Amino acid sequence: MKCKVCGEKAVIKLRQHNLALCEEHFIERFRREVERTIKKYEMFDHGQPVLVAVSGGKDSLSLLHVLKSLDYKVTGLFIDLGIEGMSKKARAKVEELAARLDVELVVVSLKDKYGESLPEIAKRRPQHRICSLCGMIKRYLMNKTAYDLGIKVVATGHNLDDEVSSLLSNTLRWDVSYLAKQSPYLPSVHPKLAARAKPLAFLTEREIAAYAILSEIDFHRETCPFSRGAKTLFYKHLLNEIEVRSPGTKLRFYREFQSFRKRYLRDIDTGMPPLRECKICGMPTSLEVCAFCRLFQRDN
Ligand code: AMP
Ligand code: ZN
Ligand code: ZN
Repeated sequence: MKCKVCGEKAVIKLRQHNLALCEEHFIERFRREVERTIKKYEMFDHGQPVLVAVSGGKDSLSLLHVLKSLDYKVTGLFIDLGIEGMSKKARAKVEELAARLDVELVVVSLKDKYGESLPEIAKRRPQHRICSLCGMIKRYLMNKTAYDLGIKVVATGHNLDDEVSSLLSNTLRWDVSYLAKQSPYLPSVHPKLAARAKPLAFLTEREIAAYAILSEIDFHRETCPFSRGAKTLFYKHLLNEIEVRSPGTKLRFYREFQSFRKRYLRDIDTGMPPLRECKICGMPTSLEVCAFCRLFQRDN
């Protein structure tokens, strides 16, 4: 297998593009794809600070690495949820890469700052799925940290496989309000809400893993002990089966959906109540007290 660009030995074959590439040209293409997504969606420019949410996994560490190498002004954010057997190890990987890249890293510990770890919060609220609590807490802390630092955009490491599996799930339920929000970039809709960017949304998990390995990024490999919905994994598996038979399906499904969304869904009224400021923390919410602050109210 030879690199299509230079004819040297290829290290990867991208079946969806019918393209084999050597290390140098794979990295070059990866960087170009990220830059293209950022520009196409007008996510941020070079002078603007970006808060990169890093979990310690390959996607977000690769995101931090590629954005830094493209000369973007990045600050890392690690949220320590206090999950035994995971958070400490993940944090170590994040700290290691941030130090190597000479990137400023902000660590927010749920336990230190708010008194309880995620498992402790979840224990008090057996009626809530821990993964939904975790998602809500992370979204809140990403936005709150960005606001406190005066940063207007938060970037996450979501990849094409993540995006396509939630697209499939939302489509199967025809969940129009979720579909309307499913985009690589969501602009801010409130002065206290950061824009959200997913610069890796058009790159597969496999491409990102290859980038991480070739860039010698040491990432946290274990999945969360509370493991994300079995359904997500099932959809990813199904989509991979389809992809084997018909390479390029994932990318097409996501890309075409983006044109459809732009045309028909972007400005629809999803019936969400208007945003106001939380009585306790002042951050935007549709309720009197935001979902995050409600976690810490007595008898809740
Ligand atoms: P997940 O929700 O675990 O699929 O993660 C999606 C994205 O959220 C990751 O690519 C990261 O950008 C971000 N993220 C997840 N967990 C953390 C964490 N503990 N700290 C900071 N960012 C995170
Ligand atoms: Zn080459
Ligand atoms: Zn609040």
